[in-house]
Amino acid sequence: MSTEKALHARSESKCELCGVTEDLKVYEVPPDPDGSVDKCLLVCGICSEQIESQEKVDAHHWRCLNDSMWSQVPAVQVVAWRMLTRLNAEGWAQDLLDMLYLDQQTMDWAKATGEGSGDRETPRHIDSNGAALEAGDTVVLTKDLNVKGAGFTAKRGTAVRGISLVADNQEHIEGRVNGQQIVILTKFVKKSC
Ligand SMILES: [Zn+2]
Repeated sequence: MSTEKALHARSESKCELCGVTEDLKVYEVPPDPDGSVDKCLLVCGICSEQIESQEKVDAHHWRCLNDSMWSQVPAVQVVAWRMLTRLNAEGWAQDLLDMLYLDQQTMDWAKATGEGSGDRETPRHIDSNGAALEAGDTVVLTKDLNVKGAGFTAKRGTAVRGISLVADNQEHIEGRVNGQQIVILTKFVKKSC
């Protein structure tokens, strides 16, 4: 049975977070997804979009966790914990978080992406406007960049799609320009909407 079929069976073809039955897709729970059913959720488009992008989070939508956090599926518990942690400025979310019990192994998994460790401690890649950058974002160069060793200038205004973040240096991102993977300083880019 494919992972997707197994997830449909487990969830009775419902979003495992909010219960809707449309626009369902497989969400691999980071980090280290291995494609196994245990590390995946079946989620709807709305949940998936908000899990992936902090800016899109609509707190009201996540009241669904009131029910789904009691799931016996560790992957559901992990995502519930992460979303409640992200929303813990809301009183109701903190209340749910206080009630949510995860065993040690599941809690370690839930914390593995750094959710809840606080923005100040988590290194963040920030663009020239102070917006947080995430892997996969599209950015635009804000000045002409002379690419050392590549023999070309990346022009101001060039869009760089699908950037990756350099983990050990929050001033560096990587992206493809002119077909070449180059390192770009975050202060010379602007996140594109
Ligand atoms: Zn959903």
